[in-house]
Amino acid sequence: MQLSLLCAGLLATANLVFAAPTPSVTIDVNSTELVTTTKSHWAPQFSPEFPGLKVTNPNPKYNSGPINTGTTLSKKTLDLSKYPKAWEVPSPNSAEVKAVINKINWDLVPKSPKRKAKNGDLDETGYDEDKDPDCWWTATLCTKPKVDYIPSDFYTCPTKGDWGLTYDDGPFVYSDDDDKTTQYENKWSEPELYNFLAKEDLKASLFYVGSNVIQYPEAAKRALNNGHTLCSHTWSHTTMTTLTNEQVVAELYWSLKAIKDAAGVTTRCWRPPQGDVDDRVRAIAWQMGLHTVIWDEDTDDWAMPAPGGSNLPPEKVDAKFAKWIKNQQQGKYKTGIMVLEHELNHATIQMTEKWLPKVKQTFNVVSAMQCNGVTQPYWEKSFEYPAIH
Ligand SMILES: [Zn+2]
Repeated sequence: MQLSLLCAGLLATANLVFAAPTPSVTIDVNSTELVTTTKSHWAPQFSPEFPGLKVTNPNPKYNSGPINTGTTLSKKTLDLSKYPKAWEVPSPNSAEVKAVINKINWDLVPKSPKRKAKNGDLDETGYDEDKDPDCWWTATLCTKPKVDYIPSDFYTCPTKGDWGLTYDDGPFVYSDDDDKTTQYENKWSEPELYNFLAKEDLKASLFYVGSNVIQYPEAAKRALNNGHTLCSHTWSHTTMTTLTNEQVVAELYWSLKAIKDAAGVTTRCWRPPQGDVDDRVRAIAWQMGLHTVIWDEDTDDWAMPAPGGSNLPPEKVDAKFAKWIKNQQQGKYKTGIMVLEHELNHATIQMTEKWLPKVKQTFNVVSAMQCNGVTQPYWEKSFEYPAIH
């Protein structure tokens, strides 16, 4: 069903796709054929179907309170037998993924080359950065697609004074997987961050890795219940421009299914791991209902010494928070900023707990989706967030 005529007159910019005061598209949560356009010349989008998925709470509502701040969460996983192997690029040959591949209009997917990477580092050799034909963020920080049928990425907060709060790589799991023989409960895992944010009365956009969601679905449920926005951060957290078209679909599809399975919502936002996106990947994600989200300020918190991290001295991260606060106090920003943090290990959680109370005194801290006017981050229409501005 095409709904373009309903929307074309209402929506003047990409941001307003989400900011219309009333839902621009009426979609039933159990509907299977979710096809729409958001502006006459934007590529059509659809919400993938999830065959055979029985969601226990199929029509969740926005929670206006009270917020759940219990100190424990069930550690029950999703049915792992229904998902691909965690932390590996999923096969594009499953029937579910093939069904999505068949729904995509491949004429609207640019033929940008598949990139190469060595040890996780993307090889930009030979790419023309001046022309930037593919709007490849990794090479040029490009956020405005070269093709005119895909909207620009969200990468900042347009309103001066806003701090767009984002956390990647969650949900932060309760045990340390590095040593299978001595798995222990990590007190910094969820619900630690979510309870801290509730105490501070803050909402964030959370970019979830599907491989984590299947391990810790109760954390996803808690986050949704507490009013955070759940977005996809792919299935296995790989660099997306190095994948085939079909693998891109598989990475996005399984992450969307895990979030739907865990929390009952079908998200419409995603962030590429390492920001690695070009117009080919954007066009696939967009058609699958996903608006690409980047950032414009990076804490580098993931690199602090901790499980999954590296050797960046925490003082370097402290200095970044301090600089942003100072810049704001001195009136140096013309717009707001969108800041990348991680829910990854004790170091990143402790860092946000240390700095956010100070940030709040200077900035208007909001979910990154909200600062971009996104009041409907999910296809399910019951999730219309109250307008913030
Ligand atoms: Zn990440």
